[in-house]
Amino acid sequence: RTKAYQRGSYTLFTREMGIEIRERAMLMQHLHKAFDAERLYLMYQPQIDLKNRRVLGFEALLRWRTDDGQMIPPADFIPLAEHSGLIISLGAWVLRTACFTMMQLLDKGFQLDRIAVNVSVIQFRQPDFFDLVESALRDSGLAPHFLELEITESMTMSGAGLFEESLARLKTLGLQIAIDDFGTGFSSLSYLDKLPVDRLKIDRAFVMQIDTENGPRIAELITQLGKKLGLQIIAEGIESELHLEVLQKLGCDEGQGFLIARPMLESAIEPWLREWK
Ligand code: C2E
Ligand code: MG
Ligand code: MG
Ligand code: MG
Repeated sequence: RTKAYQRGSYTLFTREMGIEIRERAMLMQHLHKAFDAERLYLMYQPQIDLKNRRVLGFEALLRWRTDDGQMIPPADFIPLAEHSGLIISLGAWVLRTACFTMMQLLDKGFQLDRIAVNVSVIQFRQPDFFDLVESALRDSGLAPHFLELEITESMTMSGAGLFEESLARLKTLGLQIAIDDFGTGFSSLSYLDKLPVDRLKIDRAFVMQIDTENGPRIAELITQLGKKLGLQIIAEGIESELHLEVLQKLGCDEGQGFLIARPMLESAIEPWLREWK
């Protein structure tokens, strides 16, 4: 086993590209193999209405378990997958799997509003991304309004014109768009106002800030900004009753976080939903 399996090395590689080419190639090979061997799988984290605690849906989150049982966090392997192009087939698989999972839950009678899926900029830029989304919806039978694509704020800043067009085209399908990690990038406000977006996700960093001297001031700003723009607001990383209380008071509509539930296996969803009621 190489040192590269340790989390720190991955982080070093992905964040600083400081690893040897040979080692990098090997990691990519492992990642490709992992995909083939179904060692990549999805976890689902509940999103709730902060007013009445109703479960709105789930965010699908990718996981990689290596042969020796180690968990590699997505922040460490998604840049790798983006670099190798694997993210295109991987992302397609995520999208389809999430749609099928959601459809199954609806078929079983669970009253949910959405399944949220993270989309990489590389994926988004593929000319056939629209077709991919359309076929995932069609093949799973999921009505488009149940699907939410999470794009990051940094994506909105890359390649402006084309991005807006692609997003508008996707919106014609009837799905929902959320801006993930909102507040961590620097998108222009006039641009944001023009984008066909439904929801802003307050980044976990600003929820964590509630515990510091600064308090919830950024979370408050984002909530107010979102309201002004007519958008729904969801907070991620809610870990304590204090976070929940403060966000509720600010008028934040929705949330997810360890306080409510950690990301869970698909098989854990149904028992969890029953217990939550
Ligand atoms: P994200 O989309 O912002 O996802 C939220 C992250 O915060 C998840 O980490 C989630 O497990 C974590 N989280 C949620 N609530 C809490 C909490 O209360 N406390 C703490 N400490 N963490 C919390 P995860 O699953 O490690 O994902 C990290 C990032 O990887 C995601 O950030 C997303 O950008 C990316 N990612 C995950 N799955 C996919 C995927 O299928 N495709 C793409 N392109 N990116 C993905
Ligand atoms: Mg996300
Ligand atoms: Mg997020
Ligand atoms: Mg985040």
